[in-house]
Amino acid sequence: MSTPNPCLFCRISEKSLPADVVWEDDDIVVFKDIHPKAPIHLLIIPKKHIKSLADADDNDEAILGKLLLTVKNMAAKLGIEASGYRTIINTRSHGGQEIDHLHIHLLGGEPLGPMRSR
Ligand code: 5GP
Ligand code: ZN
Repeated sequence: MSTPNPCLFCRISEKSLPADVVWEDDDIVVFKDIHPKAPIHLLIIPKKHIKSLADADDNDEAILGKLLLTVKNMAAKLGIEASGYRTIINTRSHGGQEIDHLHIHLLGGEPLGPMRSR
């Protein structure tokens, strides 16, 4: 028996861990956040294991662009393009990143207010 992938989001991408997947293609998986912070809270991830935005390099140019376009397309599909939405990429410890696999949060479905001030 092979050892399970230590990365939670790789396991979701490989389908060895269940998740509420709403869309995917060869490069990207979109699934619902398990602890939603808004009526719509999706996570958009590359199938390729990239630890964080800070770990992406020039070879990742295409996938980084595709991730953002997927956010835009998902928002349109869910009917929140006109009302608007928030995208968040938490990076490493000061950014509050808990899962070390690059992901974009897509939040919407209600007014989210301004970002927290200091
Ligand atoms: P981060 O703080 O790393 O930017 O966000 C990680 C997000 O992943 C959190 O919002 C958390 O709720 C979500 N999350 C953590 N574990 C799981 C899981 O097993 N399944 C799903 N669907 N989301 C998860
Ligand atoms: Zn991973």
